[in-house]
Amino acid sequence: MHDMHDMAGTRGVGVSRSGMHGHHSHAAMIRDYWRRFVFSTILTVPILLLSPGIREAVGLETMFPGEDYMLVGLASLVYAYGGWPFIKGMFRELKRRIPGMMVLIGVAVSVAYFYSVFAALYSGGKSFFWELATLIDVMLLGHWVEMRSVMGASKALEEIARLLPSTARRLVDGGVEEVPVEELRPGDLVLVRPGEKIPVDGEVVEGASSVDESMLTGESMPVGKKPGDGVIAGSVNGEGSLTIRVLKTGRDTYVSQVIELVRRAQESRSRTQDLADKAALLLTVVALSGGAVTMAAWMLAGRSILFALERAVTVMVIACPHALGLAIPLVVAVSTSIAARQGFLVRMRDAFEKARLLDTVVFDKTGTLTKGEFGVTDILPLADMSSEEILRIAACLEARSEHPIAAGIVRAAEERGLKIRPAQSFKAMPGRGVEGVVEGRHYRLLSLQSLKEEISSRGLEELLEQGKTIVILLSDDKPLGAIGLADMVREESREAVETLREMGLRVAMLTGDNKGVAHWVAEQLGLDEYYAEVLPHEKAGIIAEMRRKGRRVAMVGDGINDAPALVEADVGIAIGAGTDVAIESADIVLVRNDPRDVASVIRLARKTYRKMVENLFWAAGYNAIAIPLAAGVLYSMGVLLTPAAGAALMSLSTVIVAVNARLLKP
Ligand code: ADP
Ligand code: MG
Repeated sequence: MHDMHDMAGTRGVGVSRSGMHGHHSHAAMIRDYWRRFVFSTILTVPILLLSPGIREAVGLETMFPGEDYMLVGLASLVYAYGGWPFIKGMFRELKRRIPGMMVLIGVAVSVAYFYSVFAALYSGGKSFFWELATLIDVMLLGHWVEMRSVMGASKALEEIARLLPSTARRLVDGGVEEVPVEELRPGDLVLVRPGEKIPVDGEVVEGASSVDESMLTGESMPVGKKPGDGVIAGSVNGEGSLTIRVLKTGRDTYVSQVIELVRRAQESRSRTQDLADKAALLLTVVALSGGAVTMAAWMLAGRSILFALERAVTVMVIACPHALGLAIPLVVAVSTSIAARQGFLVRMRDAFEKARLLDTVVFDKTGTLTKGEFGVTDILPLADMSSEEILRIAACLEARSEHPIAAGIVRAAEERGLKIRPAQSFKAMPGRGVEGVVEGRHYRLLSLQSLKEEISSRGLEELLEQGKTIVILLSDDKPLGAIGLADMVREESREAVETLREMGLRVAMLTGDNKGVAHWVAEQLGLDEYYAEVLPHEKAGIIAEMRRKGRRVAMVGDGINDAPALVEADVGIAIGAGTDVAIESADIVLVRNDPRDVASVIRLARKTYRKMVENLFWAAGYNAIAIPLAAGVLYSMGVLLTPAAGAALMSLSTVIVAVNARLLKP
């Protein structure tokens, strides 16, 4: 179990361009098992023909003298060559002190072999060479099939890795040169022709085209690209030619990070996996002692040592926690690659597993449910300062802020041809506003709701009723003017909320914006509840309070101000276009900025869990029936399993587990 485990966990899936050898060694191991299987199976034919038991059954006479020795010789070859991977595995597990499947198989085949040699050469008793040979054949075949399934599960990611072109056309003075992608540096310009794969993450500086990003983001429609738009390595350029400025190369590119994330996610342990491993260890102990007890019981019952030994071997073989070791990793491999293709990255598997239990999803408003593209709609002087001057000074303050409101104000000032000089002594007050010095004077730009003093003005009331976001420009606590901004609700948000509610979840919204805006958005989307005018640290507090009441909460956000809440929630989900802080704090990252993907996350988490439980049943449940059968409980009714039949059953459960995992669908 443990060597397979390593395969599924690290090597099989952790494929990057530099790490491709992992893939090769896996393939080599598969070929090795196949060779051993073919060789052993061919040798099994004469073993069957030479075996006294079989010959009696088909009525063959003794053929030639010394055939006993020949039988021993052939069986020794099968034991040594075919049984080698298991014996090697047994010693490795013993050395690591984690007895598992290999110990069971190793002990089973070794007991069968040495007893038979002794019986054939010295005591003249019955041997079970043919049972030994078929057992090894079936085990080898089972391993081979299973390793191939593991390969299949990790294929999707290998495909993504292979998507990356190895060379690019770099623009240099007066021409184009073809260079290996590794030589590109951020800032270089590369040319991508129609139909080519994009070699790096970058920004379009010239040209227009549509790009197929479906392999990376799951977005099935080609995405239009024009100067200023970002492109990702591995996506396929459409009809136009593009000049791209390199932003990220190699390990920093999106694809490499996805692969790295998936690899780490598969290594990150989860409760279910721990459970499966404990069960596997327990089963090993049960099987070894079960084998011993079975043998003792049959001997006490007066059966021959041969009969007792055969029952013991069958018990050990059947109880192999082989499938159990694979049940979870296989589902994880399939699930993580489905997730990546659907456009979300699982950073913490434990949290992802918890997503199936959620009963509440809390969304941040700005940039998550709304587009986060603010337009300035109103400017309202509150003292003797012109609208233009209010906007100009506000823009100077905002020039240094990353907030969506800042972008809206700066754009509005630029459109009006105002000259923007970034403020000095700039300071951001998250969730409230900004302050700084413009032309020697200290100003603050704060949200209406964060002001202590009431500002009463008929104009403001009106803006509030319209659901506008309002910021106030102040100097020395004196309000100079108000700026009204409007954001748009994302079209996808309504559907996202609807789907989540249909799935039985409560949907809430948290925002630092004023009550008017919050009310307006909540109405538009049909939210179950909303909290307005919350400061960043209060966001986490509200999530904590919900959890104290026993709710299981997911938080979805994009901003710096959402980070504490993302950490506090049972499941933190960051919108991919959000800030790095948000992404670092999240358990799951949505690549597309689509709130509907939250429902996909929960749906996949539910399905994944169901698959895991099914697999644990197939892997472990059958033991409950098979072990007593193997021990010979129903012998009096004529039901008895041979070791090879036991091995076949065990392999069958492994194959069922592998196939079942692959049947996981988005
Ligand atoms: P949300 O929770 O909706 O993402 P924030 O917590 O980021 O909103 O902001 C809350 C409020 O604080 C905004 O509605 C705005 O009034 C004010 N604010 C925050 N940052 C800025 C800024 N850079 N410029 C102006 N106002 C800001
Ligand atoms: Mg936000």
